[in-house]
Amino acid sequence: MPFRLWFYLTKIGGLVFAVLVVLAVVLGDSRTLETVISAMVLIVVPLGLTGAVMGVLMVCGKLRMKCPFCGRSGPAGGSKADGMWMECETCGFIHGAGPLGLKIVREEPADDAE
Ligand SMILES: [Zn+2]
Repeated sequence: MPFRLWFYLTKIGGLVFAVLVVLAVVLGDSRTLETVISAMVLIVVPLGLTGAVMGVLMVCGKLRMKCPFCGRSGPAGGSKADGMWMECETCGFIHGAGPLGLKIVREEPADDAE
């Protein structure tokens, strides 16, 4: 499972969700609201199910994703503070950064060879 795919999918999913909620509130007419709600269900249910499976794997420490930089797989997870992250043997700690957290950055593993 490529990390980059999931990274952007969750970001875009959250963004679309927020936009739809705002739209529904701003427009305020019930037919639009119904359409928006069914669209949200279509998006949120599959994402939620996958998220639940990933959450279980994450808790068991068995979630692995493909590194966006070198393609190796490594343990992945998520937290409120870091968002989605993964650890790559060669690239180090990979996580989101930037004002919207839309950029994927890596932190080289600390060089404590001495
Ligand atoms: Zn890597």
